[in-house]
Amino acid sequence: MRVAVVGAGIAGLVAARDLAAGGHDVLVIEKSRGLGGRMAARRVEGMVLDHGLPVLEVPSGGVLAGLVRDLAADGLVHLDGDAVAWPAGMTVLPKAMAGAVEVLPGTRVSALRVSGQGIEIAQDQGNTIRMVDAVVITAPAPQAVELLATLPDAVAQADALRAVEYDPAVMVLAGLSIDEPGWLAARPDSGPIAYVINEAVKGRAPTGGVIPVVIRLRPDDSARLFDATDDTVLGEVMPALAGVMGPSAPTVWTQVKRWRYATARTRIDQDVVNPAGSRVIIAGDAVAAGPSVEDVARTGQWAARRLLSG
Ligand SMILES: Cc1cc2nc3c(=O)[nH]c(=O)nc-3n(C[C@H](O)[C@H](O)[C@H](O)COP(=O)(O)OP(=O)(O)OC[C@H]3O[C@@H](n4cnc5c(N)ncnc54)[C@H](O)[C@@H]3O)c2cc1C
Repeated sequence: MRVAVVGAGIAGLVAARDLAAGGHDVLVIEKSRGLGGRMAARRVEGMVLDHGLPVLEVPSGGVLAGLVRDLAADGLVHLDGDAVAWPAGMTVLPKAMAGAVEVLPGTRVSALRVSGQGIEIAQDQGNTIRMVDAVVITAPAPQAVELLATLPDAVAQADALRAVEYDPAVMVLAGLSIDEPGWLAARPDSGPIAYVINEAVKGRAPTGGVIPVVIRLRPDDSARLFDATDDTVLGEVMPALAGVMGPSAPTVWTQVKRWRYATARTRIDQDVVNPAGSRVIIAGDAVAAGPSVEDVARTGQWAARRLLSG
């Protein structure tokens, strides 16, 4: 079977690997240049910062555990009990997973059209990317709805997905000239900051005495400041950061990053949104059984099993 997977996040890559292992002809299409979706890392001033998912929890015996063990065997992560240190950023996981499948990055799928030969996957300019027999869509629900709206038979799936709500996240990435604080996360009780993550404790040595931190604003503050300028965001965040790190923590650099759909606040049942026999399968956090990335990975596994079982 020819399958297109829309999205190279964790759900899409798990689905693609399982489908390829089952002998199917799989293409993963990803609108961004990088892989991993919301498991995202950025290099700033020689330092790597995870500016999406802050910490990956890896329950033993789950889908992620085997993948992380493989990375550890290749020396790409360090395991210390249940803790995982990611010296090169968490995106080593999606990069390694993508090695087993064909991926087309930098390409946004804009329409799906059903014809006698199958499902046509079309990109922004209207060109056909590929004809396939089935599609797995792993985009966040509002983006999946946009795609489903291009398919006349997917009205019920689109309507079901419209119920899924997301919290946005405004993130501030900063380099601070301080001594390594030793903790992983600080969660202030009040103010706009939900948490500060000290990236240096993830196996990433500070560069030139500068500690990289990632700050997430609370959902309400993220919504309020989502369209504000970077200067306005920093004007609110930096005084609050001084309250967490101490006033004598000089800032060497800052960046602001926004996620419109960061974390699903509600989810729907993957069985409900994917009627038996459908060749357009929804996976990803919108249909996960719970909020963890392990739950998200399982939706990719579920999608692959559904297609592999005919
Ligand atoms: C700031 C932040 C903090 C988070 N904190 C936590 C946490 O503490 N705990 C937790 O469990 N989870 C957390 N999450 C959520 C977690 O990262 C996600 O649940 C998980 O990564 C989702 O994986 P996914 O594969 O479902 O979707 P994604 O990773 O979003 O992958 C979907 C991919 O589809 C691509 N795409 C979308 N539309 C198209 C299109 N039309 N054509 C081609 N490609 C397309 C996107 O670019 C994306 O790469 C956080 C996320 C963020 C951003």
